[in-house]
Amino acid sequence: MVEALSGTPYQPVEWQIPIENVPEQLWDVIIIGGGPAGSSMAFHLARRKFRVLMVDMARFPREKVCGDCMITDVEPNLRAMCLSEEVRKQGMSLQGVTIFSPSRSHFTVSGDFVTLRRPVLDRLLAGKAVETGVIFATGKAVEMNVGEDEAVTVRFKDIDKTLQARIGVIATGAHLGLARKLGVVVTEKPSAVAMRCYVRSPGRTENLVLHYQKDILPGYGWIVPLGKDVYNVGCGHYLDEHHHLTMREYFKAFVAGSPLARRVMNGAEIISPARGGVLRCGLKGVRPLYRRSIVLVGETIGTTFTLTGEGIGQAMSAGVIAAACVGDALSTGDRGKLELYPSLLEAKLGPRHRGFEQAQRWVARPWLADFMARRIHQSRYLHSACVDLVANGRNPRRIYSIKAVLKSFWS
Ligand SMILES: Cc1cc2nc3c(=O)[nH]c(=O)nc-3n(C[C@H](O)[C@H](O)[C@H](O)COP(=O)(O)OP(=O)(O)OC[C@H]3O[C@@H](n4cnc5c(N)ncnc54)[C@H](O)[C@@H]3O)c2cc1C
Repeated sequence: MVEALSGTPYQPVEWQIPIENVPEQLWDVIIIGGGPAGSSMAFHLARRKFRVLMVDMARFPREKVCGDCMITDVEPNLRAMCLSEEVRKQGMSLQGVTIFSPSRSHFTVSGDFVTLRRPVLDRLLAGKAVETGVIFATGKAVEMNVGEDEAVTVRFKDIDKTLQARIGVIATGAHLGLARKLGVVVTEKPSAVAMRCYVRSPGRTENLVLHYQKDILPGYGWIVPLGKDVYNVGCGHYLDEHHHLTMREYFKAFVAGSPLARRVMNGAEIISPARGGVLRCGLKGVRPLYRRSIVLVGETIGTTFTLTGEGIGQAMSAGVIAAACVGDALSTGDRGKLELYPSLLEAKLGPRHRGFEQAQRWVARPWLADFMARRIHQSRYLHSACVDLVANGRNPRRIYSIKAVLKSFWS
């Protein structure tokens, strides 16, 4: 059972049924994975009255290694699911982010961030899907296939039962098992590795803190306040040819090199062991469509942002796009509508992913990261572009480009 940070275990939800109890009917859609991508997609399809089965191998509420921080692109997705108020009520609102460069130049950008532990957030998201009509089951899918008639079959571990759907969805996050069997994986290697732990500490910080430290580049350390003196402290490293330390060593280097992290960690009570995970970023690595029957969505197809590692909002947005395409294909009987999905994804989410990749290339060079931190601190133009990025989800190219830097010298 997953423990809340107070030490009281979270009660398992009663609305997740064993896979054995799922009726053997032809489902409109079977979604494997009940994280933000799966739940958001399930909710939007159920709203259009499709018969949706969502299956997760974990019993909810489940743990998910994460920084537990939501940026602006989560908000419209929560609003669409009527969950914005509830998430804010259960989470904590932060008013800004302080970003440190390798030489500890720093700037603070005001903004609206909400932090909430993933077991709680994901329980809310899956619960809303269930409230809308989705059937949610526990089971580990081991194979998804397409038959002659284009129907999708799903097999599960340890039970002799095959379920069928008109369309199948893989929303299994960074787990690639199902996608691999379909041959849609282009790049096995994840984009980044990361590790986090929870601590209770008197060393205060009110803002979200990101530290792009020399020893960790390309990557960064974070301190995420969760309320009641509890912090999620972690660090991530993008896998390039300079990857030379273990994750624990990167974490140690972060704490040693960041005065704020030292303040929070010194004398802190460690309330959960450090746990690691991988990230798949840049909207690449796995093809989003298999034949005209299986759609892949969320972190499986790399929806997490490079540079910041934020992926909850993008996973949900991809779920919305996928739900629209699948819904149109099912309601018109024209599977050709699904072929629009990859290009719609690229058109709607791609430009910001490319912008974050460009920003990552700049920040990966310590001298350039320092130069940019100083420019952002000094230039009204660049600072307000940062505020706009945080508040309105603008493209980071508006900051990390030669044109923007030149402009920053006279505005
Ligand atoms: C250390 C770390 C820190 C992060 N910090 C942040 C952050 O602060 N903010 C942010 O926005 N993003 C953050 N991210 C990224 C974020 O966690 C992901 O982008 C997000 O969870 C992706 O959502 P998803 O629904 O695609 O996948 P997931 O949330 O991973 O959900 C996938 C689900 O599929 C299930 N599953 C997998 N395989 C099977 C199977 N075979 N059968 C049945 N079920 C299966 C899993 O149990 C899981 O519940 C972080 C990631 C890491 C690793």
